[in-house]
Formats: sequence, structure tokens, C-alpha cells
Amino acid sequence: MACHICVDCGVQHSFASSPPTSCFISQDEREFVGINGLQWTTRQEMLSVHKNKIKCEEEGLYSIRTEPQFAIGQRAFLVQTPNGNILWDCISFLDQNTIDLLKELGGIDAIAISHPHFFGSMIDWSHEFGDVPIYIHENLKNWIARPADCIHFWNGETKDLFDGKLKLVQTGGHFEGSQVLYWPAGASQNGVLLSGDEPHICMDPKQVSFMHSFPNYIPLNARKVMRILERLEPLNYDRLYCAVLSGGGGDGVIRQMAKQIVERSGKRYLKAISDDSD
Ligand SMILES: [Zn+2]
Repeated sequence: MACHICVDCGVQHSFASSPPTSCFISQDEREFVGINGLQWTTRQEMLSVHKNKIKCEEEGLYSIRTEPQFAIGQRAFLVQTPNGNILWDCISFLDQNTIDLLKELGGIDAIAISHPHFFGSMIDWSHEFGDVPIYIHENLKNWIARPADCIHFWNGETKDLFDGKLKLVQTGGHFEGSQVLYWPAGASQNGVLLSGDEPHICMDPKQVSFMHSFPNYIPLNARKVMRILERLEPLNYDRLYCAVLSGGGGDGVIRQMAKQIVERSGKRYLKAISDDSD
């Protein structure tokens, strides 16, 4: 018995004696299955191949990334606040070294996930840090590959965590239950927004984008893009971290003027998909 992990999307499925015959996350139109068909691994099998690299991005914020790259190259982030630490988004690989290093940084008190492409081995991560709650928007209820009691579905448009030190904001768009994490004290009190891949930092890090599917180039409609922009509008942030890296000139962060870049990119996107655009 093992919890098998889909090699394409990195999501861990429920305990089973043999690998599942399908992965509804990789096989969804937003993702893809590699040329060799569905393949599976386990955390145990990954131990001999992978390790995690933890990097301090700024005071109170660490990124966690698996090397060599696994699945779609997801990153997770540890955000430290005076009222508790959160793991924002998740990755598949977790070993004792990673657990020890994160415990030295104060451990994890809660987990929140932007959308299914970052579920990774979230249930294992929760268990290893004391069955901490995993906050997922209720519109993602049908996307859970490994149900567990530690998953807390929330509803509505925003949810405060740690007495307002952090806030989850449901944006919809890429998935109906997609959410971002707002950290007002980040970037030296200028505000940080953390996203999974929406807003997505482009090859040109002075632009962001919004897509139904990034690998399959399926855009969002105007109504959904406008809703994302509306939900982000009340937040004051200067910096944006994205949990995937798009290569090019970007390193997964827009250090300054992120809010202006998101708003400008949103207008550009809406113009590009409008009927009277030339
Ligand atoms: Zn995604």
C-alpha cells in the first residue's frame, strides 16, 4: 500500500495497493499527460533522486523547491507571522531534512493551497507538522484526490488567518475555487501577494497573465478576468510571488510596482480578447 504521486501534475492520491489508472488533474484540459502516458511514483521512491532547496526570499518568507525539478516545477512558500506560520501552496516531495529545516524556522501552523495544481502531497505535509489545517476554497471540493479530515473548505470571497496577519482571497478564474494569499506586512510593510499561477508572472517580468490553461494556451473570458481584477483591487501590495517559474527574465517575483503591473496587464488582456481589438 502506498499513496501514489502522479509524475505529471505531482498530486498524491489516496492509499492503494497499485497505482491509479487515471489522474483527473493531469487528464483535465488545463494540464497534460507526458508522451509516455501516466506515470506514478511515491515519496519513498523519490528519496533517492530528489532533495528540497529552501531559500530565504525576504525577511519572513522562504521558498521550497524540489531538485531536480519534479512535475510542473512547483514551489511552496513558508510565510512567518507573529501569530503563526503558513505553508502557501505545496509540493510533492517531503523528506526528514526538509521537516527539520522548517521546524528550525518555526514549523507550519496551517497550509493554504491556491488550486489543484499545487495540492502535491499536502496531506502528508499536514500530518508531518501535527495535522495542521489545510485551507481550500469550497469550489474545489470535487478536485480532491486524497480526502482527509485536515482539509478545511471555506466559502465566501475572503478569509482572514492568524488574526488578520494573512488573508485568503478567492479570485476564481483558472479554477472556480482559485485563491491568492495576501500578506500585508511583507515587502517591508508594503504588502505582498502570493499566487499559484494566477496572476502568472510572464517571461517578461513586467507583465502578468491569466489563463484557463497555461500549457494548452486556453484563455479566460473577460468576465472572469474582470472578477480577478475586482477581487485584487482592494489589496495594497507592492510585490508578487508566483509559485511557478516561467523562465525568461523572471525569477518568480515582481519586486516592486506589482499592483500597477497586474492592473496594466489586466487591461491589456481585456483589450486583446475584445471583439473590437485590432
Ligand atoms: Zn494551474
